[in-house]
Amino acid sequence: MQGSGASVLFANARVFSGEGPSAATQGADVLVAQGRIAAVGAGIAAPDGVERIDCAGRLLTPALIDCHTHIVYAGNRAREFEMRLEGATYAEIAAAGGGIVASMRATRGASVEELIAQSLPRLMHLIGEGVGAVEIKSGYGLSIEAELNMLRAARKLGRRLPVRVVTSWLAAHALPPDYKERRAAYLDEVVLPGLTQAKAEGLVDAVDGFCEHLAFTVAEMERVFDHARDLGLPVKLHAEQLSHQGGARLVARRKGLSADHLEWASEEDAAAMAQAGTVAVMLPGAYYMLRETKAPPVAAFPQGGRRDGDRHRREPRHLAAHLASDGDEHGRGAVRHDGRRMSLRRDRRGGEGARVAGRDGPHRAGPLGGSGAVERDKPGRTREPHRLQSARRALA
Ligand SMILES: [Zn+2]
Repeated sequence: MQGSGASVLFANARVFSGEGPSAATQGADVLVAQGRIAAVGAGIAAPDGVERIDCAGRLLTPALIDCHTHIVYAGNRAREFEMRLEGATYAEIAAAGGGIVASMRATRGASVEELIAQSLPRLMHLIGEGVGAVEIKSGYGLSIEAELNMLRAARKLGRRLPVRVVTSWLAAHALPPDYKERRAAYLDEVVLPGLTQAKAEGLVDAVDGFCEHLAFTVAEMERVFDHARDLGLPVKLHAEQLSHQGGARLVARRKGLSADHLEWASEEDAAAMAQAGTVAVMLPGAYYMLRETKAPPVAAFPQGGRRDGDRHRREPRHLAAHLASDGDEHGRGAVRHDGRRMSLRRDRRGGEGARVAGRDGPHRAGPLGGSGAVERDKPGRTREPHRLQSARRALA
């Protein structure tokens, strides 16, 4: 967040309030005084001593929320990117020792400070795109200590930068090689006791898992979710990404926060989620990156999310993806999510891609919350987003 005493006039902006489906207002000004939105309108004069920023017609929007990230890890998987381009599937890459297990080796070898150093540029990149709240998962350590270290790094990043960080315990992300053929033991010795410890250290806000044929079954996730319930933690799940396993229905039964990916979800799954108030999170970036061909049933989900506006403002449960649109038939001009239409800009030149975002509170008089993102829509021709400037100041 910006400093609590920040005062600034954002002038001549295209203001999107985030309230209702209305279009952005052209040529509007937003006055922020002592860290609160004091006025929104046209022709507002900057009070003495208040910095005036000419937005030159750019979009001013409530800060974006990225509700599903894996930005804390060590190492990189550039070779796998090559393999994907050569046509290998996710499952083939995993079988060749790549995927989550490759990141596990590098992550286990890194200290908390090293994790922070490697993850900081990734978080700065998100902040630079206007993200004001970000969820960060564990899931590349796959041992208690390495998983805890990931969340320790996430918490420290949140304290260091002007961004709200919430964390998810994702030890049930993949079965590590040291537990090959000992699936139950991995849950008993790592996932469940590690979660207890994460909770005791105040490191965890939600419990996640990967329910998939190459990861964990519904029955295994039931055990993890039982433990989450005992600890009073909400649940969410990577569900129906590569095949239909019943994960979306599981999260709905547990009245979970969200089911994410959902390429193989059915209309019945969507209905169960709607009934439970579980939000559907689409991840088009992963879809394109993995060169998947089965698109999620997007049209089944408009009624599928929570409608409780107050919860929307407090909890990052919306779709926030930076979509590298390649202009194929799935690169639609807009999607509907949680009952609202979200813009999805396309750029067939492939340089900047498209963005689908949730909101972090409306733009109106009141607390500043997570406001202050200025769209960066044309590389090299727009000013640095206001939020990124405050992040740089926090690091200085
Ligand atoms: Zn994920």
